[in-house]
Amino acid sequence: MKYLSCRYIEHGIDFEHTRLETCCFTCHSGGGHITLKQEYAGESIDWEKLFEQKRKYRLDHRNGNLTPNCTGCVFLEEREWDEEDYINFLQFNYWIACNSKCTYCYEVQNKKMFDKIKPYNSLPVIKDMIEKKILRPGGEVSFGGGEPTIAPEFEDLIRLLTANGFKNMRIHSSGIKYSPAIAEAIQKGVLNVVISIDSGCEKTYKKIKRVNAYKKVLENMKKYALANQKEYGFVISKYIIIPNVNDNRTEIDLWLNSVVACKGRWIALDIEDVWYKTNRSVISSYYLDLVNYVLTKAKLLNMKVELYDRARGLKEGKNFL
Ligand code: SF4
Ligand code: SF4
Repeated sequence: MKYLSCRYIEHGIDFEHTRLETCCFTCHSGGGHITLKQEYAGESIDWEKLFEQKRKYRLDHRNGNLTPNCTGCVFLEEREWDEEDYINFLQFNYWIACNSKCTYCYEVQNKKMFDKIKPYNSLPVIKDMIEKKILRPGGEVSFGGGEPTIAPEFEDLIRLLTANGFKNMRIHSSGIKYSPAIAEAIQKGVLNVVISIDSGCEKTYKKIKRVNAYKKVLENMKKYALANQKEYGFVISKYIIIPNVNDNRTEIDLWLNSVVACKGRWIALDIEDVWYKTNRSVISSYYLDLVNYVLTKAKLLNMKVELYDRARGLKEGKNFL
């Protein structure tokens, strides 16, 4: 049956710091945070209970009652959905520690609160899912953070997911620590690493990240890029437009030059989350022009461009929704 829903509510699970949710997307007007389990810290999961909760959301969507927190989400699509219970979209956002201190980071801004949260491991649960055949390849796996590469279980998790047929994995990394498991998965063509460098020079990088790691990050990006140079490669250099910090063409040009120098050919664009949410109804055309500038330059450089949900919302005129 055809109806409006999304792949995350149908078959997704997101491991958050203290909860299980369907996805991690929160920048649309509905605000996201669709809960599957209120309190969670790595315990084994009662799958029947969890799927019961998912079935409620799915049935609502099937009956035309959109979950209010999904309103305005760019991932909603009208199509046929199956009725089986399984997971093939996995998001890992449980890891808090990081080796960067980005000015826009929610976790850095709320450090005291996050310092109180105990880190947990997800590897035993993923093994349980594989054993019970709840986890199916074919969808996507994504890691956010904190910085996933410094989680002690990270290398094992990536190798386990690779061995179990996941061919579409995405890691959001600061790029400061080189991960052999990432490089191996890039070599196999099953993983993209997204490094949000947000700058085109050391000075701006330091201003945003508040660590001295610009050269190290570029070095690691090049190593990852050289692991597999097929088509557009598997390293994505991301730029979060931060108003009054890096929102100008000069910095963007420097950034694009650095992507070329690192043998990268795939870029991603985003807009700073808090600013976007606060200003969504009054964002000036300057920012849409900036997005279009990147799109035009990338075309000239034969780069693939990906617009993250905020930039995509702006481009598609959905930032008001
Ligand atoms: S519609 Fe959007 S917010 Fe709702 S579950 Fe899907 S991705 Fe998440
Ligand atoms: S790299 Fe990510 S998790 Fe780390 S400080 Fe920056 S935004 Fe936060």
